[in-house]
Amino acid sequence: MIILLYHDIDTSDDPSEKTDAATLGTVARLTEFEAQMKFLSDNGYKAISVERYLENMRQNDVSPNQVVLTFDDGHASNFKYAFPILKKYGFSASFFIIADRIDQIHHMTSAQIRTLRENGMEIGSHGLTHTWLPLLDRTNIVHELKQSKLFIEKKVRAPVTTFAYPGGHYTGAMMKEIRNQGYRAALSCILGINTGTTDPYLLRRVEIRRGTGSDDFEKALQPFSIRMYSVIDQAKTALKQFAGLERYEILRHRLYQFYPFKR
Ligand SMILES: [Zn+2]
Repeated sequence: MIILLYHDIDTSDDPSEKTDAATLGTVARLTEFEAQMKFLSDNGYKAISVERYLENMRQNDVSPNQVVLTFDDGHASNFKYAFPILKKYGFSASFFIIADRIDQIHHMTSAQIRTLRENGMEIGSHGLTHTWLPLLDRTNIVHELKQSKLFIEKKVRAPVTTFAYPGGHYTGAMMKEIRNQGYRAALSCILGINTGTTDPYLLRRVEIRRGTGSDDFEKALQPFSIRMYSVIDQAKTALKQFAGLERYEILRHRLYQFYPFKR
């Protein structure tokens, strides 16, 4: 299964507040996002949420025409721009929310998140504060996992069962803790495809970045090209161990020049 990752979406009249090149790269243009969803629909794809994918896996009913859509960080644009397009095509998606940014500037309100849920979208946790978990001690990791789940569940009045690692950073010990806290899956930023043997607490995703044209989007849906480019991702992982988390973040953005799913 291919799981696509989006963040913020903007338009020329309504630009993202992100201005530095590194984070602006994560912001899809509305025109691009619209074309990508139309491409999925025109080509017979059905977009589903992570929870639906897990359910399909349990029932041995995974279709090659399905793709999972995920949005990290809970930007206001997810409700304003992505939601109407998803509704138009009858698509579902998972939205990973940073608990302490609900009702804050540039982020979705409690009511908007609830509306998403009431319209068949999944709401997951992206942490309490978006702190990279490997930087925290065990007590604070548990606090992030537990309190974000409880807080978001209270806001959406529905269970929260999936988690997306802030910054994509994780450790093996953390994966066990996520399971202990009652989550059924966790999503990484490791580039790759998910199969029956993929650890549900380390699901792979394909990030769709700003400037992704139709040819590159098509590549993002091809297992062959994802596998090919996952070599780059493995180099990133090696780099993380070598350079340490802070320096790795700077280097990671330089590596995006080799990233295929953008122009
Ligand atoms: Zn994030």
